[in-house]
Amino acid sequence: MRIAAHPGLYDVEADPPTLSGTTCMRCGRVYFPPMAIGCEACGASEAQLRPTPLAARGTIHALAQVHLHHGRPPAPFTIAEIQLDAGPLIRATLARDEEDPQITDSVSAIWIVTGTGDDGNEIVEPAFTTAPPATETADEAARNGGNS
Ligand SMILES: [Zn+2]
Repeated sequence: MRIAAHPGLYDVEADPPTLSGTTCMRCGRVYFPPMAIGCEACGASEAQLRPTPLAARGTIHALAQVHLHHGRPPAPFTIAEIQLDAGPLIRATLARDEEDPQITDSVSAIWIVTGTGDDGNEIVEPAFTTAPPATETADEAARNGGNS
């Protein structure tokens, strides 16, 4: 059994990780972390916000190395701003084995264990890792075919 390091932000039962976002039913804006007090974009009340599971998948928008940090995770590690395919721009840690992440790289989340609870359960949070190379899109296939 897994426990969320930050309860309410993701579904620990999902594998791969799923983020717990909200969607505004009035204007369609998607939020992560989940928005509870109403929609920032159109002013809809919280009654119009719906919990929405978001795929933890997107593109690196910005990167920052953290060299000095007290607590967990131990430094150095990399924080990325990730543009989720689902819409929101989020900040998240990258998995430790990422060697040379680049802006615009595609990433998706895996679970990392950050500690052990009093009851012996693993405490987990999502960390992003460069996604395996995607299959060629129809567009790319057409371009590559034209060049050869
Ligand atoms: Zn809205």
